[in-house]
Amino acid sequence: MRVLVIEDDAAVADGLIDGLNYANFETLRVATGGAGLAALATFRPDIVLLDLGLPDMDGTDVCRAIRSKEQTPIIVVSARDDEMDRVIALEIGADDYVVKPFGMRELVARIRAVSRRTASPETDAPPATERRFGPLVIDTRAQRVLLADEPVHLTAKEFDLLVYLSDEPGAALRRADILHDVWDTNWYGTTKTLDAHIAAIRKKLGDPRWIQSVRGVGFRFEQPTFAEPNR
Ligand code: CA
Repeated sequence: MRVLVIEDDAAVADGLIDGLNYANFETLRVATGGAGLAALATFRPDIVLLDLGLPDMDGTDVCRAIRSKEQTPIIVVSARDDEMDRVIALEIGADDYVVKPFGMRELVARIRAVSRRTASPETDAPPATERRFGPLVIDTRAQRVLLADEPVHLTAKEFDLLVYLSDEPGAALRRADILHDVWDTNWYGTTKTLDAHIAAIRKKLGDPRWIQSVRGVGFRFEQPTFAEPNR
């Protein structure tokens, strides 16, 4: 992991660099805001430690400038210990804030915490946005439904309803709850609307068994058991 240290005070910077190297971070130290911004492109840091009091620029401006073009996590390192700075640091896009003097162990722990928190989602497991029920795939992020690899064209409300029902496969869901949660209403007149939407989804899925009527209750989403083909 590469840490860029933007700090004009040589004594502070030396201590930081020693501690970071000891913790096995690769480091680059620069003494001005301008050099820090330039080093973003050349050093490609995984995290930036930023002093607020710099000779050429205010640290808050450096922070904003970094944030305007990069998502690199930033920990503000400041001698100014007042609540206002802390608020400003977070408002200008810093991820954390430490006040001098601080212990190296604390700083390393913060660096690790910030980089864990800001780890890009691409490098983690992708969020589960796809639900599979045999031939049926409901992709909640892409707002798309596939049946046997063919797109099923649902209206926005039909899609919401199908997602809602498939949240709990096999569970009987009450009409009133469905109306409340999907239509955001308890109005009884809409129960016809609900029936119409259920009918439309069944038709589009080509098999009414996907959504079973539960008498006196409401509906249940279930993957039908399909007959073995060509027997
Ligand atoms: Ca300084």
